[in-house]
Amino acid sequence: MIGFDPLYLIMLAPVLLFSLWASARVKSSFTKYSQVRSQSGITGAEAAMRILRAYDLHDVRVEQTSGWLSDHYSPAERVLRLSEAVYGSSSIAAIGVAAHEAGHALQHGKGYAVMGLWQMLAKPAAIGSNLSYWLIIAGALLTSFQFLMIVGVILFGVVVLFQIVTLPLEFNASSRAKKLIVEMGILGQQEAAGVSRVLGAAAMTYVAAAISSVTTMLYYLIRFGILGSRD
Ligand SMILES: [Zn+2]
Repeated sequence: MIGFDPLYLIMLAPVLLFSLWASARVKSSFTKYSQVRSQSGITGAEAAMRILRAYDLHDVRVEQTSGWLSDHYSPAERVLRLSEAVYGSSSIAAIGVAAHEAGHALQHGKGYAVMGLWQMLAKPAAIGSNLSYWLIIAGALLTSFQFLMIVGVILFGVVVLFQIVTLPLEFNASSRAKKLIVEMGILGQQEAAGVSRVLGAAAMTYVAAAISSVTTMLYYLIRFGILGSRD
């Protein structure tokens, strides 16, 4: 099994450490700025709605959802879902996360090209991330079905591409959020620095995910190359 290959473990270990560091940082910065109430006193949901209204996105709904940092914008449903810790909270962290999600709604509503590409890749990438592993295993084990390995690697390539496309999408949503909350007077300049911390930490988790899939792809290519040269 791939998981027990020492090469895989050696390649992925630093990436795993980076991922753990990134998620610990999100947790600590979000917790810290969740305790800092905004001067304006408006909630995450209100901040998101203000931004949506300012950009005439009246058809985007704002809903509350369960789960820790499960906040997301669904372009297909045109729904902005905010977690319990964000929706009704008037903390700096909550407003920052809500504004970030509103940033995704703006990307969608205003035809940001990367959003279109991201939407196109989302489903194939979801399928690819589950299926590619099994195809590669099957291809590696069954000599007469080696082509499955190639199909698996190509499918995993879609996952890698998706993770890479996610980066500009996330960075852009955060920079929109940081700009808008100050411009619209939702937060003061100093409060916005806290938002930068939270969103910057969150962005690192996407960087970690992208590095992880690129590293896994490199591993596949190295292994695939070795197997190929043995034939
Ligand atoms: Zn995002």
